[in-house]
Amino acid sequence: MRLLSLEIEGFKSFADKTVIDFRPGMTGIIGPNGSGKSNIIEAIRWVMGEQSAKTLRGDKMADVIFNGAADRKPLNRAQVKITLDNSDHYLDSEFTELTVTRRLYRNGDSEYLVNDRPVRLKDIVDLFIDSGIGRESFSIISQGRVAAIFNGKPTDRREVIETVAGVAKYKQNKRAAEKRLVTTTDNLNRVNDIIAEIN
Ligand code: ATP
Repeated sequence: MRLLSLEIEGFKSFADKTVIDFRPGMTGIIGPNGSGKSNIIEAIRWVMGEQSAKTLRGDKMADVIFNGAADRKPLNRAQVKITLDNSDHYLDSEFTELTVTRRLYRNGDSEYLVNDRPVRLKDIVDLFIDSGIGRESFSIISQGRVAAIFNGKPTDRREVIETVAGVAKYKQNKRAAEKRLVTTTDNLNRVNDIIAEIN
């Protein structure tokens, strides 16, 4: 699996459609302070399902939409597309190439697409979970994160190790199963009450 390209339009400082192709090997993005390097990384985070505006250095999610410049009006929509080579089927999908798209409109509407077909946020999160590149993964280390990990509480550090080790997925499945168990137990209790009443 490999990142092939990133298309950004109306996201943060990228008002016009901007396409970045990632060739095999290492890609470095250089530019003066404030030129948008971090915004590119945030676009990748965002398209993979990031839900925290704070993580994207904003107050609310609409802050990711281009909000105008001296010579340019604000835009109504942010769109980011990421294309991945999945010929090794590293991501759990039949497609050998995957394009994931996320759109957000100023009225709050949002859309997620995989290969141009509408999907739910959950589908995007599930696609990337445990792949090492999802929204919670450690493939994107933002400024200050390393220090935060080292200075964090042991329980926080444990969470990091569990995520890296791929335990997070099983914990999530366990939580979902426990919820279902509670509902099933409630239902069983109700059935037992009804049986007791009939008898
Ligand atoms: P540094 O090297 O200082 O870390 P950088 O190259 O990483 O800088 P970014 O932090 O990615 O730069 O970009 C910051 C710029 O993005 C600022 O000029 C800011 O005004 C602009 N910006 C952020 N959000 C928006 C938005 N919604 N609309 C327009 N511009 C935005």
